[in-house]
Amino acid sequence: MKLPLIAALTLGLLASAVPAAPQPAADPAANWDLTPLYASTASWQAAKDHLNAEIPKMKAFQGRLGESAATLRQAMDLMFSLKKDFYRLAVYSFLNRDENTRDTPSLERAQEIGLMESTFAQATSFVNPEVIALGEAKVKALIAADPGLAQYRFPLLEIVRAAPHTLGAEAEGVLASTGLVTDAPASFYQILANADMPWPSIKLSDGTSVLLDQAGYGKWRATPNRADRQAVFKAFWSTFHEYERTFGVALFAQVKADWFNASVRKYPSSLAAALDGNDIPESVYRTLITQTNANLPTLHRYFRLRGRMLGISDLQYWDIYPPIVKSDKAFPLAEGKALAIAAVQPLGKDYAAQFASCVNGRYTSVYPRPGKVSGAYMDGAAYDVHPYVLMNYTDGYDSVSTIAHEWGHGMHSLLANHAQPFPLADYSLFIAEIASTTNEVLLLDHMLKVAQSDDERLYYLGSSLERMRATFFRQAMFAEFELAIHEVVEKGGALSGAKMSQMYGEILRRHHGQKEGVMTIDPMVTAEWAYIPHFYRDFYVYQYATSIAAGSTFAGRILKGEPGAVENYLGVLKAGGSDHPYDIVKRAGVDLATPVPYQAIAERMNSIMDQIEAILARKH
Ligand SMILES: [Zn+2]
Repeated sequence: MKLPLIAALTLGLLASAVPAAPQPAADPAANWDLTPLYASTASWQAAKDHLNAEIPKMKAFQGRLGESAATLRQAMDLMFSLKKDFYRLAVYSFLNRDENTRDTPSLERAQEIGLMESTFAQATSFVNPEVIALGEAKVKALIAADPGLAQYRFPLLEIVRAAPHTLGAEAEGVLASTGLVTDAPASFYQILANADMPWPSIKLSDGTSVLLDQAGYGKWRATPNRADRQAVFKAFWSTFHEYERTFGVALFAQVKADWFNASVRKYPSSLAAALDGNDIPESVYRTLITQTNANLPTLHRYFRLRGRMLGISDLQYWDIYPPIVKSDKAFPLAEGKALAIAAVQPLGKDYAAQFASCVNGRYTSVYPRPGKVSGAYMDGAAYDVHPYVLMNYTDGYDSVSTIAHEWGHGMHSLLANHAQPFPLADYSLFIAEIASTTNEVLLLDHMLKVAQSDDERLYYLGSSLERMRATFFRQAMFAEFELAIHEVVEKGGALSGAKMSQMYGEILRRHHGQKEGVMTIDPMVTAEWAYIPHFYRDFYVYQYATSIAAGSTFAGRILKGEPGAVENYLGVLKAGGSDHPYDIVKRAGVDLATPVPYQAIAERMNSIMDQIEAILARKH
């Protein structure tokens, strides 16, 4: 059985910039307490030694899975209990490391977990081929013969489902070793884009000199001075443009590797291979792309509004990052928590009470500190304990939003872990951003109610509009590009960096309405594709867009008070990984293969823009 170590749902794309000055963390509730996981590092070590001694016991079941229902159950019991203990060890080591990356023993413990993961994978590697060899009928008969196998029904039948795309032992062995070669493009990208690029330095209009590496670009692209922004874009993207050929070779190699893996496994396309893991219908991906294009007028309306609010009539690509409304309103932690808790009340008493006890418990590492990792994530993999959240709270509204977002993930894990046995609890990434998005929508709704002025309301509306652009439209645009480059290779075509810039440029111009006179795309920024790390994880980003569309739809129904809306939504969270994620969401009334959820997100953006325009009209 595969061991996806999705211990943490990182905020990745949404991670905020490097936080301001570290804050004192005298409040014990601002620090997580890891002792419910292990009382000390010594007890972690003891548990790890124990698990290492247990893993070889899997060997006793090799060649025997079809012997009887009882044998299969014992093998599954052992494997999943090892996996559960392993996750708990992993959570402790990762949280410990991320709290202080300068602590060498923590780093070493995290590395030991990496080694242990491969030991576990090797010890259980016979399971899938053996289950496949038994065949569907035999596996179903065994499951029917022992009620203790019921909780393994879905995972076992998932293995069987993969049979047509699983090769013989020898070929699987060869394929497994190709991983050593096919991961080269991603490593190459990593090194070049993060370490070896000759990052430019520029002088800003006030005379300060700034280095435009990835972090510098992230910071300065939103600077309020337009001439500075333009200079930042010109310098940063011309550097990528210079290396377009080299990045092109890397991404071409990645796309070829994706197609190699798909075709040897007898898939008609790389997309089909990528979606098959979670049994996502291809129509979900294609509907996302066609619906995003159909709803571009909404995105263009946003850009026009942005231009108007920034006082810019000839909008350029370097005008998309500065906030359209600024606010220096501060939300000290206690206030931030209270707002997030008040915001989730529409989800019902039980949810709200559990959410409050998570937010107020010692489950979160709250403030930035030297050595702590940046950004925010939730880790819900310690099944018997509770979820943990790492964030970097800075008193801004973003931080309040992060509490709502991350503890949305946390509640998803908590409810799934309570409702499902361990083998069925872990939910798919395809639906992971639903719970976080729903909470963000509820938070905005609450903030608009408690806001004391139109300016404050404008700020919340503006920031949520920008989030929807970044998390829905931009990710859907990446998804369109990703599909296009894979299709070129599948038809036997070649891809150079220049070709990719040309393809990306066409999509970029269409999405940003160049023809409609909405925004001008400078030819230099068409090298942006070279900067996106997610293209080295095939067909990954679309899941952000689809789950955000679903989350917005659920939240909209909940806020309208539609009958059954809360129950349907909580049903998705409680379902965990007990079924295919597309089916879980569809059963709750949101079919991601239809235009409905994508239209809902456009409607939501339009309603936010209506509110902004009404406020602007009042002000003038
Ligand atoms: Zn998230």
